[in-house]
Amino acid sequence: MTEIGIGLGSNMGDKAQQILTAVHELKIAGHVFDLSLSSLYRTAPWGNLDQDWFVNACAVAKTDLSAEALLAEVQRIEIKMGRTRVVHWGPRSIDIDILFYGDTRVETPNLTVPHAELLNRAFVLVPLLELKPDLKLGGRPVREALARLDATDILPIAHSAVAKAI
Ligand code: AMP
Repeated sequence: MTEIGIGLGSNMGDKAQQILTAVHELKIAGHVFDLSLSSLYRTAPWGNLDQDWFVNACAVAKTDLSAEALLAEVQRIEIKMGRTRVVHWGPRSIDIDILFYGDTRVETPNLTVPHAELLNRAFVLVPLLELKPDLKLGGRPVREALARLDATDILPIAHSAVAKAI
């Protein structure tokens, strides 16, 4: 079993529900275990700024899949959930990223792990560090990266109802 970090984001439709649906899909597929979900956060758009705000969250779990098989699994879920890829960095119903896979580095045409932008995105680091405040990747504390970023636009959404729903 390998510990994994998953990033989730949505800025179309019922954003919070789509995050929860993606988590549910990950759990029921039978290869992701002991999943913990962070708070959901309302975050400002990035990349293409002319789009709606996002909901972002992270999950930490264990898997018996290889990193490549996990990527296939998250892409299957994205497609099943009707992910549209109309504009690069544009609106998406669901985006599921592999943030880390144990302490393993993967560099293939399809997959970069740890995620190439992990240390540059406060909307990923804030929920991830909520779950794993002492996470180190490549021997370095991940929280050092957050200290260099502006996290003022990353606002937790009250989600006691959400916690009950999953
Ligand atoms: P995006 O539009 O941001 O969801 O990017 C999707 C593409 O990124 C896919 O074609 C993946 O093959 C590639 N990719 C590379 N590294 C990762 C990763 N760590 N997690 C998810 N997708 C990745």
